[in-house]
Amino acid sequence: MTDQSPVNYFPAPRRARFCSQCGTPITRRVPEGDNRERDVCDRCGAIHYQNPRLVVGTLPVWDNRILLCRRAIEPRYDTWTLPAGFMELGESTAQGAARETLEESGARIELGQLFTVIDVPQIDQVHVFYLAQALDPRLDPGPESLDARYYDEADIPWNDLAFRTVATTLERFLEDRRSGAFQTHHYTLESHR
Ligand SMILES: [Zn+2]
Repeated sequence: MTDQSPVNYFPAPRRARFCSQCGTPITRRVPEGDNRERDVCDRCGAIHYQNPRLVVGTLPVWDNRILLCRRAIEPRYDTWTLPAGFMELGESTAQGAARETLEESGARIELGQLFTVIDVPQIDQVHVFYLAQALDPRLDPGPESLDARYYDEADIPWNDLAFRTVATTLERFLEDRRSGAFQTHHYTLESHR
């Protein structure tokens, strides 16, 4: 993972070319009883459904400062992000958010309330962030992070943030903190960056 050059970053496209079950070239068509095109195998009958993916993360705080991680992976290599990543099979959103936080920053946290749920339909993703309280100030960034540190509000690197979902989550956190009451926010972004 650490020696993976950004040049080699190649997430497979969502559209399949061959059936994952029997290797036959895929046909793109509306299956019987469905209402939209799917990747269908006309040999074994497998329908390769694709659905939006969940990205789960946290906004951890220690002593009024906010944890950000500098990405060591594509996309958006060398920009700052809240700890977050794709939810894995078999886990809950809360478990995924805590796992990503530990993996990317080494922070030990107590998970707080659900804070933002952000639809990003252009890239078929939903991003979910929980508030979190760090249990101590220690950090130990993993291979997916070049660095991790706690930022005062005045020092947040707004021009170097990885994703709009991160920027808008930070904005709402700071607004809510000023108002003294944390809400759960649901909104839609028309583009990811
Ligand atoms: Zn097949």
